[in-house]
Amino acid sequence: MKVLKNVRLIDGTGAAPLNDACIVVSGNKISAITTTNQSDFPADAEIVNCAGLTVLPGLIDCHDHMANHRYDLAHRWGIDEPESTRHLRTAAVLRQTLEAGYTMIRDAGGLDAGFRRAIEEGLTVGPRLLISISIISPIGGIGDRVAPSGDCCCVPGDPLLPSGVAETLADVRPVVRKMVRAGADVIKCATTGGASSRPGHGPRDSAFNLDEMQALVDEAHALDRRVMCHALGGRGLDIAIAAGVDSIEHGCYLDEDPRHLDRMAERGIVFVPTLLVYEYHRKSPQPHVRERAHQLYEHHILAIQRALAAGVKIVAGTDAGGHGHPANAGELECLMKAGLTPMQAIQAGTAWAAECCGKEAELGTIEAGKLADLVVVNGDPLAEIAILRDAKNIALVLKDGEIAANRMS
Ligand SMILES: [Zn+2]
Repeated sequence: MKVLKNVRLIDGTGAAPLNDACIVVSGNKISAITTTNQSDFPADAEIVNCAGLTVLPGLIDCHDHMANHRYDLAHRWGIDEPESTRHLRTAAVLRQTLEAGYTMIRDAGGLDAGFRRAIEEGLTVGPRLLISISIISPIGGIGDRVAPSGDCCCVPGDPLLPSGVAETLADVRPVVRKMVRAGADVIKCATTGGASSRPGHGPRDSAFNLDEMQALVDEAHALDRRVMCHALGGRGLDIAIAAGVDSIEHGCYLDEDPRHLDRMAERGIVFVPTLLVYEYHRKSPQPHVRERAHQLYEHHILAIQRALAAGVKIVAGTDAGGHGHPANAGELECLMKAGLTPMQAIQAGTAWAAECCGKEAELGTIEAGKLADLVVVNGDPLAEIAILRDAKNIALVLKDGEIAANRMS
């Protein structure tokens, strides 16, 4: 048994902080939340005095690419370094992410199931992982690996990361099944280009027609997998919502048609804006990327504000990977700047994020009976959310009831 005493508790439900609370962890679960004057704990209980510290639910990033480390073609094709070096690089990022207070990551493509297994077996440390394997798109979509020269990727396919290109309607269901066979917990697809996609396939250029997307969503749901869909604007965004995906990733031009957000609210489709990546793209050396990122900025902020008003759930996702692995909590700060309150920003990275992942019964809030994923923070993130960006302020991380990082002494 572990007892966190004298904590200032932000439980993730949106309730006001509770001072002088006491969190009791038995095995991998939170067994009780009591007041500090309780003292009748068993003699072998490990008591941690958290006076002056704040405790939050373990943080969750709903859109990350843990196995990507740069945007350049050689890296994306996997020819810039030995595969073993790259895997160890990814393992280092997994450790660093957990130690920064992120106890769950939903990977949006590129991470193979071996990492999840290695963490579960204790070979390496990292957050809980929900993985999507490869991005599914049609020919010419963002999952299709083509160089500016027109050459297709020359590197032999990795059996752990099957190709996500669905060439025809008939291919869509088999490609979904291949992702599930390779270990996907969630299906990632794309119905538009993005800021960093090739010239000619931009944020409002569509990929997939409605029949194809309908088949994709039906097949994923038949296999009990949610669908996270990269969709920025135009027809592709409309098709993704009409097909009933579970979350819209990026959603930069959701402000352009008022029906989008109304339909998302009605169907419970979550919005994952990924603001942090566009800060990076606005400084991109590639003119077409920089221009797209500047053009979408004001729309994106408006989309977030209208989503809040429409009752669409907004959750935090960094889209880290290509732009390196900066502190994931930077996204919470971006969400606040876009109009969320500090408490909403924390919920976007805890309780609401757990709902987006389908894990709300076990994770996302600090309540008796839930899994003990907890972050102890030096300072008050409600007063200054930026403190979460600095790992020095992350005093203690518990994942599954075990200490994953300890900077307390
Ligand atoms: Zn992404």
